Amino acid sequence: MHFNVITLFPEMVATTLSYGVIGKAIDSGLITVDCVNPRDFAENKHNRVDDKPFGGGAGMVMMYDPLHRAIESLDENSLGVVTLMSPQGQRLSQERVNQLAKGSCITLVCGRYEGIDQRFVEQYVDEEISIGDYVISGGEMAACVVIDAIGRQIEGVLGDGESARTDSFMDGLLGIPQYTRSEILGQSGVPEVLLSGHHQAISLWRQQQSINNTKLKRPDLMAGTSERELSDSSTQKNE
Ligand code: SAH
Repeated sequence: MHFNVITLFPEMVATTLSYGVIGKAIDSGLITVDCVNPRDFAENKHNRVDDKPFGGGAGMVMMYDPLHRAIESLDENSLGVVTLMSPQGQRLSQERVNQLAKGSCITLVCGRYEGIDQRFVEQYVDEEISIGDYVISGGEMAACVVIDAIGRQIEGVLGDGESARTDSFMDGLLGIPQYTRSEILGQSGVPEVLLSGHHQAISLWRQQQSINNTKLKRPDLMAGTSERELSDSSTQKNE
């Protein structure tokens, strides 16, 4: 999977993505990330990429020209879905992540300041994605969230010991409580079934935990779904 990131802070993106499973996937070439800096395409004296908004008002706006030249510098066939990171976009969901993971390329545009000139959005942007209903100072962290979420869905990125299949949201339910050594921590033990070695009983227990967890923490995820449907999807997940 190939990602282009248009950003004024390429080091921020590269550093953030250099850790853990995503870092390994980049090292092994399963994921490739190409950062392009609009500042390298600013054809003015001080390499300016921002200017005051027409009509006045607070802050600065990223100018069309450096962004336009930056995106035009990329191979057209490697662009994929051109996605603007924006608090005004559709809130990112696991469902959208899974769909995007089926593609082969995606271009993420990171805003800064008050955002970017609307004419760039109209000309190039296919989709706007938000990572939540709050505002952060730039699109870089949001782009890293998108790359990480998509990256872990790509075959081979998660090692044998990790599975995206059992993650929260993969089947509309939350994940399960997990336990590891030590078996006894003060007064606190581990649910006995997990030590039983009985795979079917463990799978059944996990199914129920997943449903209970979701009912308790995110009842909104279950609205309109019957217990039967939930139990079926959770069986698939925990098998
Ligand atoms: N003035 C803008 C916010 C600008 S924040 C507005 O009111 O909509 C600067 C940049 O940070 C944005 O252009 C965007 O790229 C990024 N950003 C901020 N919040 C975000 C969010 N919730 N999701 C994705 N990107 C976000």
